[in-house]
Amino acid sequence: MSGIAKVVVEIALGREFDYLIPGSLDSTVSLGSLVTVPFGRKIVRGYVVGLEDESKHPNLKAIASVVGNKPMVDEKILELARWMGDYYCASIEQSIRTVLPGAVRKKGAAFKERLFVQLVPGLDDEMKAKLQKKAPKQLAVLEVLEREKGMFLQRLAAKAGTTVATVRALEGKSLVMIATHSMNRDPLDGHVVVPSVPLELMEEQAKALDQIMAVASSGKPGTILLQGVTGSGKTEVYLQAIDQILKKGKGAIVLVPEISLTPQTVERFQGRFGNKIAVLHSHLSDGERHDQWHKIHDGEACIAIGARSAVFAPVKNLGLIVVDEEHEPTYKQEDAPRYNARDMAVMRGQLEKCPVVLGSATPSLESYWNSRCGKYELAVLSHRADHRKMPAMRVIDMRTEAIRQGHPSIFSQDLIEAVRSRLDRAEQTMLFLNRRGYATSLLCQKCGYVAKCGQCSVSFTYHRQVEALNCHICGSSKAVPNKCPSCGDKAFKFAGIGTQRIESIVSKLFPKASIQRMDADATTRKNSHRQILGDFRVGKTDILIGTQMIAKGLHFPNVTLIGVLYADLSLHMPDFRASERTFQLLTQVAGRAGRGDVKGEVIVQTYTPSHVAIQSARKMEYDQFCRRELEDRRELGYPPFGHLVCVTIKGLAQNKAAFYAEALARKVAPLISDRVVLAGPTPAPISRAKGYYRYQIMLRAPVTKLITGPLTEVLVDFKLPPKMSCSVDVDAISLL
Ligand code: ADP
Ligand code: ZN
Repeated sequence: MSGIAKVVVEIALGREFDYLIPGSLDSTVSLGSLVTVPFGRKIVRGYVVGLEDESKHPNLKAIASVVGNKPMVDEKILELARWMGDYYCASIEQSIRTVLPGAVRKKGAAFKERLFVQLVPGLDDEMKAKLQKKAPKQLAVLEVLEREKGMFLQRLAAKAGTTVATVRALEGKSLVMIATHSMNRDPLDGHVVVPSVPLELMEEQAKALDQIMAVASSGKPGTILLQGVTGSGKTEVYLQAIDQILKKGKGAIVLVPEISLTPQTVERFQGRFGNKIAVLHSHLSDGERHDQWHKIHDGEACIAIGARSAVFAPVKNLGLIVVDEEHEPTYKQEDAPRYNARDMAVMRGQLEKCPVVLGSATPSLESYWNSRCGKYELAVLSHRADHRKMPAMRVIDMRTEAIRQGHPSIFSQDLIEAVRSRLDRAEQTMLFLNRRGYATSLLCQKCGYVAKCGQCSVSFTYHRQVEALNCHICGSSKAVPNKCPSCGDKAFKFAGIGTQRIESIVSKLFPKASIQRMDADATTRKNSHRQILGDFRVGKTDILIGTQMIAKGLHFPNVTLIGVLYADLSLHMPDFRASERTFQLLTQVAGRAGRGDVKGEVIVQTYTPSHVAIQSARKMEYDQFCRRELEDRRELGYPPFGHLVCVTIKGLAQNKAAFYAEALARKVAPLISDRVVLAGPTPAPISRAKGYYRYQIMLRAPVTKLITGPLTEVLVDFKLPPKMSCSVDVDAISLL
């Protein structure tokens, strides 16, 4: 026996167990090894997450075997997993599950093996003539093989119009060879992509590339924020940086939001790097994911492109991480561990000592601040590489429109006219409902008034069941006024408007137009997402209606008009990031118009035309917007000037959920220092979902550990009744 291994076993226990490493396995057990161990009366699989000289436990059992010939998780990724578990209040076992995809972990996950048949050289005409008479079926098989060189057994038999037995008979005569052959289930297989060559970089691009490569050569970690409007050539910079990294014999990871992981995006990388690429995203089959992961693990692919979880891709000798659209909220995982892939990328860059490039047209305020206070380097691409003009943005005041039309309406006259002129010219329109999650604020449709908490500068959440307005940041509450406090309108009501309703209005307004809707409901069917976009691309659809799903990463040259309905909806989310999100969305949406030869137009309908988020987006003044927004955030200690942890307690019975939330808050309160602000519990803005009542506790502090330390201490023995749960969201992005 030599040494002790700390093992996390597969069967859902958030603990590590000590096992002896038997001498016979001494050279094969290492950090990250997949092993089998006796556990109770069973033998189970587990991962070695630590190696020690001794253990404080007596009577240890020994590891039974090691699976595979190399560790599944390398040391750095293991360290990253540990850091993640610690930072995001998740168990080591949850972290291991996250860094190793299920398709790879699962028992029986393996390369698909099939029998492959080849000719044994030496077949001559004399033998053929003999077979012709005695066994014509066998001859047919040989003839197919002569043409095709080699073939999979089943296919060969089918093609020769016979059975597998015939082929086996040939094997018996040593005329063919049958061997197992592992097939790579490659999602990119069969895609032929035109190779692309590096473009000559423009000055700012070249400077950005130099900055990245300077970090790469320094041997030290470093994060570079690449800020550049849509079409400014960020992707070209990524491509050339990766190229140089590959020349150094290293690999790269490219993260893109799931939604923009379209064939178009992948093709751009494939065109430059061919089959050095592996793709990881949620639409792969388990088999494909397994094979893609191993393609990276075995060093066959040195570039991993994928959504969130690709940040854990086992790329060998990692030399660069790119996070495109770094501001995207979808980089945040919604289940434990609730990690942000962008932040994990920065952390992995630290561990691997490599550059991390964060790219965006509208960087998050966190990254903006980090790049201005010296934590990140900044590289700016200030104009479009394709020399197209940015579209003009027009803001329409829906309050005046309501007066003009005599009643509140969803479409302004200007927008209707604009759509009509596009239909006449056979150009395309996108209509965008600026809506995120559920609209839980109370909005006056006549004047646009929205009730806000005076202390927290977020909108009140409207709780219909109890007819109350609630601030879930500070916990204060207010009765719902029976008429609009601003204009006195009695029809003051919940702005519940969805894409379906818009679709029906649009089809009445433009009966001859072909209209498609793309939102979460319309895209649950597999591939319908692709189908809808495909129809739109080839011009089958005149008007595409959608939520933020259609705002991102898509390139349609024939779209010359974008209409944004209810720009205020996202502005009044009960979330301190509401302005930031609105600004980002409007800027992104604007980037969709006029990518072809015709200049585009964007029409934004709003009740608050002078709001800074809307005006800054119209004037494309990112810096001004950020500076103003940062002032507000600093005052209230919101991110990036502090960290926020959102704890949600869920239960089927409302009083129980409230009770346990209260109990938790009472236990945590005495343990926190005066640098931590604890608020709540309050009902969450979405106070009930899927039958569960939800209560939230918000904690704010300059350093996360000040919150997660005491919280973990309490949660260790905070037992909830069955069917109740408690989730901890560190650096929460969605506060709903
Ligand atoms: P972004 O990623 O910032 O949206 P892209 O890299 O997609 O921008 O570039 C937008 C367009 O400009 C693409 O068609 C690209 O081929 C082109 N482009 C980028 N860099 C250059 C360059 N240096 N010279 C000429 N065209 C370029
Ligand atoms: Zn408040």
